[in-house]
Amino acid sequence: MSKHYYQVLLLRSSAPSLTYHLQNKLAKGSIVTVPLKTTSKEAVVIKEVEKPAFETTEILSKTDKVYSSEQMEIAKFISEYYFSSFGEAISLFLPFAVGCCALTAPLNVDPTSFKGVVRGRHPTLSTIQQKAYDQLLNKDKALLFGVTGSGKTEIFISLIVNMLEEGKTSIFLMPEISLTPQMEKRLKVYFDDAVAMWHSKLTKKKKASILEGIENGSIRIIAGARSALFVPLSNLGLIIVDEEHDDSYKAMTRPRYHARDVAVLMGQKLGAKVLLASATPSMSSYHKYDVVKLGKPYVEVKKKYHFITGDSINSPILTMLHKNFTAKEQSLLFLPTRGNFKYLYCERCGKTHLCPYCSVGMALHRKYRHLKCHYCNYTEAIRDTCIECGHSPLKSERMGTVEAIEVISSAIEGIQVEQFDRDSITTAKKLKEALGRFESGESNLLLGTQMLSKGHDYAGITLSVIMGLDHILGLADYRARERAMSLLFQIAGRSGRAKEADVIVQTGDAAFFKSYLNDYEDFIKDELAFLEMANYPPFASLARILIAHKDESKAGKITLDTVTKLKAFKDVEIVGHGKAPVERIANKFRFNILLRAKNRVPLLKALHSVDCREIEIDFDPVEFS
Ligand SMILES: [Zn+2]
Ligand SMILES: [Zn+2]
Repeated sequence: MSKHYYQVLLLRSSAPSLTYHLQNKLAKGSIVTVPLKTTSKEAVVIKEVEKPAFETTEILSKTDKVYSSEQMEIAKFISEYYFSSFGEAISLFLPFAVGCCALTAPLNVDPTSFKGVVRGRHPTLSTIQQKAYDQLLNKDKALLFGVTGSGKTEIFISLIVNMLEEGKTSIFLMPEISLTPQMEKRLKVYFDDAVAMWHSKLTKKKKASILEGIENGSIRIIAGARSALFVPLSNLGLIIVDEEHDDSYKAMTRPRYHARDVAVLMGQKLGAKVLLASATPSMSSYHKYDVVKLGKPYVEVKKKYHFITGDSINSPILTMLHKNFTAKEQSLLFLPTRGNFKYLYCERCGKTHLCPYCSVGMALHRKYRHLKCHYCNYTEAIRDTCIECGHSPLKSERMGTVEAIEVISSAIEGIQVEQFDRDSITTAKKLKEALGRFESGESNLLLGTQMLSKGHDYAGITLSVIMGLDHILGLADYRARERAMSLLFQIAGRSGRAKEADVIVQTGDAAFFKSYLNDYEDFIKDELAFLEMANYPPFASLARILIAHKDESKAGKITLDTVTKLKAFKDVEIVGHGKAPVERIANKFRFNILLRAKNRVPLLKALHSVDCREIEIDFDPVEFS
């Protein structure tokens, strides 16, 4: 028997392809173990090749896992569009089991056979929900635009039940699954064990048991964060991307893919329906897809907005919090910073105390008696003297959650505050406990960061305080206004749905927010007009090149060399280049180049011509620091 030769790529690696041989015939996408130096690695078979001129070694073993041709195709797109190796892109996916019916699509299922297994029943829809649902039935992809509390979830559930009846599976994406036990509960009511929650924090054992359930057909719905998009569900009929505006759908490491955009592509390739949904849709989705609007919320209650200035817990805030506490009502307070303070600075020479490895201020965490860099996690003892001029004491700036709690607790006697941020809510258990204390009325104020804007609804709250929007408005980001406005709507919308509620917004730009409070769609329309005029996405394609190097002059040189090469591409505009806003992280000097083109094709072409190990390309970036 003659040998077969295969080109393979190592999984989770950016190494170039290698050639090995085996007596047996292997299918494209098969996963094998290959010897590499003194160890062995998993690799995926790309294709069979002619016997090469050089000596090859033998493949060690063939696993019982295989990537489908669709997975291989989508991974190829991801690697080319988001500038990663194919090995890195395919490693996002979980392979199918060899011989699993999955590969011979479509799956032959008798819908009646699993009706007994799956408790799939349609929820009752209101007239308004029914109307939106009927519209969605006829669309391959659409954006469901409905305020919090308008009943989007029942529509999702009904669409998933449809899929079950057709013998098809569904994926339901949420930005942060660990923050959404409420959604899990609701899905379980309808789908029981046919739905499984998938996220990166699952144990190996749990993952294996879910994969087994998928293989034997007992699990037909996967709900989870962005990694849920890559589970091996056969005969996929529907992908739902809830809270589609959320930036956590964009991966911040290679491959820097956007799960919402990959979901749309996947839907096209697999013939699955794609439904995006949000109360504050992204400009790009609103612009690109058919919009189905879901009227008003079930119960419309009045919200009274108060605009105040300042940048700390000041007396108007304390007065309102105190009044609400005395009335035995619950409140919520949002601010974007963790710890006690974001910065320490010297009043005499104006120097901010910086991380020695990054060009960012050290945040003060009094509880841990240290200063911490939120970029590289370097910590040091709290200091009170300026290293530049010796002046003491240092001033602290931009209050964080911990400091806000201290200020409020000392001003309002007896108030119980629940800290709700990444420092305090570290596990699902802690989340459950914190929410439990709040729901039972044991705590009176829920105080936290962006976490508050995700997943939960706090219907009983009668006072919301939103701080720090000016900081978001001031970010060097073409989406700064969208980010600030969306945050205001998300937080105000999640609270105070059962009763009339007050919302305090602390900002120096009240006029901007006031003009859109009645309807987010008014904001979208104005913002889209602005983006079109300023030539930003969705009316242009953007890419950011990041260069980071221990040697500053080397980083500068790579930047200039890359700019020189890019200048040859006439249809690509170099918007700017130079030091990144955060000039140094973990002792590496950071430079960036921002590029723009009317269409993505010429931009991709230019970037592929300069792509190299020394630069990192972020296509459709959402982060500019
Ligand atoms: Zn000083
Ligand atoms: Zn640092």
